Formats: sequence, C-alpha cells, structure tokens
Amino acid sequence: MKNQNILSKMNVEEKINLCCGADFWHSVTLEEYSLPAMTVTDGPHGLRLQAGDSDMLGINDSVPATCFPTAAATGCSWDRQLLGEIGHAIAEEALAGGVGTILGPGLNIKRSPLCGRNFEYISEDPYLTGQLAASYIKQMEQTGVGACPKHFAVNSQEYKRFSSNGHIDERTLREIYLAAFETAVRDGNPSMIMSAYNKINGTYCSDNKRLLTDVLRGEWGFEGLVVTDWGGMHDRVSGFKSGCDWSMPGGGKGHLQAKALAAYRDGRLTEQEIDTSADRMITRVLAAAETGKRKKDYDSAEHHALARRAAAQSAVLMKNDGLLPLKTESVALIGYMAKNPRYQGAGSSHINPTELSSLCSAAPGWSYAPGCDKYGDTDDRLLAEAAEQAEKADCCVVVAGLPESYESEGFDRTDMKMPDGHIRMIKAVADANPNTVVVLLCGSPVELPWLDKVRAVLYMGLPGQAGGEAIADLLKGSINPGGKLAETWPLSYEDVPCSEYYGEPHRDAQYREGVYVGYRYYETAKAPVRFPFGFGLSYTTFEYADLQVKGKAVTLSVSNIGDVAGAEIVQLYIAPPKGGLFRPAKELKGFHKVFLQPGETRQVEFQLDERSLAVWGDGWRVQTGTYEVQAAASARDVRLLAQIPVEGEDIPVPAWQENSWYAAPAGKPSKADFEEMLGRTIQEPTAPRKGQFTDENTIVEMAEYSLLLKIVKYFMKKTLGKMNGGKPDYRDPTFRMVFSCSADCALFGLVNTSSGTMPEKVAHGLLEIANGHFFRGIGLMCKKAKS
Ligand code: BGC
Repeated sequence: MKNQNILSKMNVEEKINLCCGADFWHSVTLEEYSLPAMTVTDGPHGLRLQAGDSDMLGINDSVPATCFPTAAATGCSWDRQLLGEIGHAIAEEALAGGVGTILGPGLNIKRSPLCGRNFEYISEDPYLTGQLAASYIKQMEQTGVGACPKHFAVNSQEYKRFSSNGHIDERTLREIYLAAFETAVRDGNPSMIMSAYNKINGTYCSDNKRLLTDVLRGEWGFEGLVVTDWGGMHDRVSGFKSGCDWSMPGGGKGHLQAKALAAYRDGRLTEQEIDTSADRMITRVLAAAETGKRKKDYDSAEHHALARRAAAQSAVLMKNDGLLPLKTESVALIGYMAKNPRYQGAGSSHINPTELSSLCSAAPGWSYAPGCDKYGDTDDRLLAEAAEQAEKADCCVVVAGLPESYESEGFDRTDMKMPDGHIRMIKAVADANPNTVVVLLCGSPVELPWLDKVRAVLYMGLPGQAGGEAIADLLKGSINPGGKLAETWPLSYEDVPCSEYYGEPHRDAQYREGVYVGYRYYETAKAPVRFPFGFGLSYTTFEYADLQVKGKAVTLSVSNIGDVAGAEIVQLYIAPPKGGLFRPAKELKGFHKVFLQPGETRQVEFQLDERSLAVWGDGWRVQTGTYEVQAAASARDVRLLAQIPVEGEDIPVPAWQENSWYAAPAGKPSKADFEEMLGRTIQEPTAPRKGQFTDENTIVEMAEYSLLLKIVKYFMKKTLGKMNGGKPDYRDPTFRMVFSCSADCALFGLVNTSSGTMPEKVAHGLLEIANGHFFRGIGLMCKKAKS
C-alpha cells in the first residue's frame, strides 16, 4: 500500500532514476517521497565499506572489518552452522556501518581450477554450494541486512567477463549451474540477487527474462530485487522488460536513464514495466531503512575469534604420516608467506582487516627463513639460508602456494602450477630435513610435484585474517583438522575435462563437458586424481556402520575409534540406475558434520527427496530403477552402500547418446560431441577487426587497428600504473585486474562503470574511429558534446 502511494505520486522519470544507482554504493535519495539512499557493499567474506574514494575492484581502502576466510576455505568446512555464523557476523558489521545489503555470497560453480575468482566461490558441487550459501543467507537476513547471492548465472571465467557468451545445454544449466542458486533462493530467501556479466546462449544475463523472471521468480518464487553486476546493465530497456531491476553503479551521465525514457516515450517500454522494478526498489529501500535504525556496534575481538575458528574448521589435512600434530617446539618456519600470509584474494572482495596474524606471529618461538620473495621467486642464497635453518630444527613447516599475482578477480590463471621458486624451496627444505610439513595457502588447486618428498600437507585455502593462529592451532594439535575438499584436486591441469577449451583465447565459454563437472567427471571416467572431492584426513579415525534405508530415511552410525576428539563429514551420494539416460556415476545429495569424542558413536540421518534422484528433462523427473545409496568419507571412499528400488517413469534416451562422449566420458569432449548434445552448431567467434567492432569490444582489441586507440590504451596503462603507486606492473594483481577490467572491458561496461569519465558519446566516437571512420568518430564526439 505504502509502495503504491509512493509510486502513484512519482513521475516516470523519477521511477527510472530510482532504478539506476546514485554512485558506486548507493541508491538515489528521493526526499519528497521519504526514500533515503540504500547502501550496499561487498562481500562475500567481510565488509568492504568504502568511506573515501569508491571503486569496484578493491583498489581504495575500506573501513577496517573482519576478514573471514574466503569461500575457498569455508567451502571445505561443510559446516552449515559455521557459514550461518559468518553470515550473521558480517551482518553485524554491516549494521554498525549502516549497510543495507551485502553483495554476497558468491555461488558460481568451480568448473575449472583456473578461474581467477574461484577463491570467492564455494565448490564444484551445486548441492554443497547451495546448502552452505542458504545458511549464510538465512543468518544474515535474520538481522535485517540483505544478502545478494551472485553472479547469476553461468559465470565461470574472468577472461572477457563483460561479453563472454556461455554455450550450455538446458540440462547442465539446471542440474549444475542454476541448482545452487535455486537452493539459496528457496531456502535462504535473500533480499537481492546479482545478475552476471556474461551471456547465456546469446542473451546477456541482465537482458534475460527467462532467467530473471520465468525461472527466478516464476519457478523459484524469488520476491526480492535483481541488481546488475557492476557495470553489467547491457540494455536498460531489456533490463526493465526482463526483471533486472536496479542498474549499478550510478554516477555517470545518465545515458541508461535517457535510453529508458526515450523507449518509454516512443512506446517500446511501458510504465507498467518500469513500475514493476520501481516497486521492488521501494520495497528494498524501505526495508533497508528500517534495518538502518538498528545501528549498533559489534565486538571485533569476538569476530576475530570466529574468523580463527572458521579457518581452523575449514582446514583440510591432505597428507600425514604421523608427523602431525607436531611433538616438538624445535621447528623451522620457511616461506615468505609464513610472515606475510596470503589470506584473501584481490578484487572487489578485498577487505581491510581489523588485525592480521601470520604463522610467524602465532608461533614466535620457531625459527624463520623466507626461502623466497613475495612473487614466489627464489635464489641460491635464500635456498641455502632456508636449508641451514631446516637442518638445525627437529622439523620444518614450509608455507607455500600461490602468491597474490597468480590469483585475482579480473583474470584467470594460465596453468595450475605453483611458482617454480616455491617448488624449489620445498625440495631444498625437504632435502635438508625430511620431517617437513607443507602448509598451502591458495584459493584453487595446484599441481604438487613435490608431494612424495614431504611427510604432511595442510591446505588452508585463503584463510582470512586469523589464519596464522588457526594454522598454529592445527599444527600443534590443539585443534584437529576436520575439513574436506569442496573441489577435486586433479593430478595435473591436462586431466580437467574442460582444459582444452577453457578461458583465454576462448572468449565464449563452451560448456562441452555438460554435467560432468569436477567429481562427476572423475568418478564416471574413473580417472586418477590427486585428492578426490570430499577428501580430508584427521588426527583420529572414524568408522561407519549399520546403514539402513527405510522409505526416504537413510541412517547410519559413525564412531570415533581414535584417541582424540574430531569431526567427521559424512557424505551421502546417490548412484543412478544402470543404463538409460546418461548420468554421472554419483552425485552428492546429503552431508552431515558430526563432532565426536574418542570412543563416541552417533547416529546420522538423511532424508531423501525427489531431487535426490531426479534429472532435468522439461521438469524434474525420476527414472524408474535401482539406485545405490552410498555413505562415504569422500567421493572415492564409499564406506557403506545399499540398493533401493524406485518407481518413477521411463525417461527417453536421446538418439545421439549411444557412442557419444557423454555415454562414457573419458578424455575430452569434442565440439562435435557437444553440438550434437546441444542440438545446434556453434560459431567460434573470430577476433574482431576494423569495420566489425561493436560496443562489446574493448580498447585493447581495437588498439590493434587504430593509432588513436593505441594512444588511448597507452595512457590508460600509464594512468592505472600511476594510480597503483608506480609504473604498470603485470606482477601486481591489482594493476592487472584494473587494466583488464577497464582497457579490456566491453565498451558498454566501461561507460557504465566510469562514473562519467568515459561518456557514451566518447565511447561511440572511439568505436567509429576503430572501425575506420575517423572523421565520423570525431564528429560524433563533438556533435553530441554540444547537445
Ligand atoms: C564484481 C562483483 C562486485 C562488484 C562491486 C564487480 O566487479 O564482479 O562481485 O560485487 O564489482 O564491487
């Protein structure tokens, strides 16, 4: 009613304005209608509230906030309650900062280990992702602060992120890439959702009615607000029509507003279509204003303690021959990152932490040698010094992984390797002292050619500001590691099914591997892996017994048969009936984390539902047949199993399935395999050239064909280098990211994010020039400048 009152008084121009941001982080204020500005901010693992200069890439500092472990770590906790506590704590910090909505959690599926933003995402599995995200969202929303899961949807690469087109079949879309969002929406009930930059099968997410209205709202019942990713409103008119309500950021020259108004005036856009979004905006702004009244302080020491507990509970013990927990205080600590930890990723999620612990500061009695520099490079002197320290101690802890320059928003990795210097450092230390433990700090899997040389490996992901203390707790044994991998660690990058066609130079993403993502591929192909999905060791041992299936209830008992307390993550996989429609060998459909004292036994119960068994085929459908219920300690470590007959329907098998890659996946699917499944052929985009450029192309692309554009690119590079405190430096992730998100950003996105420094008229002029129409381009800039 209140909304209707406000709406009926607003004119069309005001409604359109309301649906475009005011600046980087605020909605517009409309005092005459008592609509205050709503503040939103990143997310996902802490509050990035910028009080000074604003940006979407984590360049400028933000107000100190607790930096919780990134999702690459917390995904491995498999702990719904923990994710809920983190969501709640971040909301408390938002309340203190007057923030109405957090831009997170990040729910994209880890399709390739090379995606630059994997550290922000939870898992390769949609069930695990959805469950953890829903809990985070629920607890955040309970405080009144809104959550905004992102990036909806099919956003699994950073390369050409503003214009890349994801070719994907409907079944894969539903079963893998939408499923986590579906759970997050249905169970978490978030206030907002962020549309992704990319296209899906040719339609930008922000223009995508099917995605944002038919599926999100129609099928899943989402009642909140859809916001674009920053700069990602491809077409404001289609945005209104498709249910993409709010275009962010604002602060430009109003080109989106002008286009919407023109479309309204010439009848291409109706007032009703604008009202639908404006109405949602009003609802959200008023709700955020109510939340704003609850402003109160939070206890930063308590949040740091939660960050420490979260990092410890997320750690995965990958290897241990009994060296851990350490039984001595004579320890040599090696590695630049032991003193200067890599604890979060670069980009929009970058937090200014309230405090920061390193392993050096958490274990002050241990000796230290850097072994390498901040880039992961080493030399004979650093190696000799490390080996000397190693020889003097009873045992050594090497902290290694991926330095900052390797992983970031804005670009993908080019391989799965650790820096050569880290590998040499580990080998030198292990040669000097075989009692060597490696602690890995990285947001994605890496190849481990040195694994046989060391006695233990502890994976921490990017563990947040209290990571140092958490590592010390785990190494010393005051906490027992209980995390399990939320993604498969392949032996080498070549083993990843999409490795031949993922990322640069492929601007468009072909989701050829279909539903065979992560363990769904490795388990079906029976391919060897370094560590399977769901794998993690403990300082104790667990035993599974007595699996029973009664109707939809699955029960079993788990016992701690070791000497120390610990947590076990019990996983429930369902294997489909043999024959019929192609399907992964198994899929995760349940999990419980149980904490057990030595000698303790507990019963664990799962409830199966239709979705535990269903596949997508114009709706969720259950195939008749015998399913296998597997109680497992990892995707590859099935402890107990039972067969269950199920009465469903006979799902037709497509004619092309026989003899196709999908029926027996091994190695890589070809384009022809994929086209057959997709039912259409795919045009590989050719590199754009003079005469063909559109506003989806970038200054970097156009610079190849125009001297003026070359000069523009040069100045952008220089200015960005200066902004970053020096010269262009490709080893600085912030420089690389900002360069790729501006000079290599689709022109329309650059205009949207430039706060007016790249007006649309200039962008269009540059486009004309790049297409060979120099004078038309100059004319366009000047002519429009006068109006
Ligand atoms: C990122 C989003 C983020 C937004 C605002 C974009 O570059 O893709 O995840 O929320 O910036 O910082």
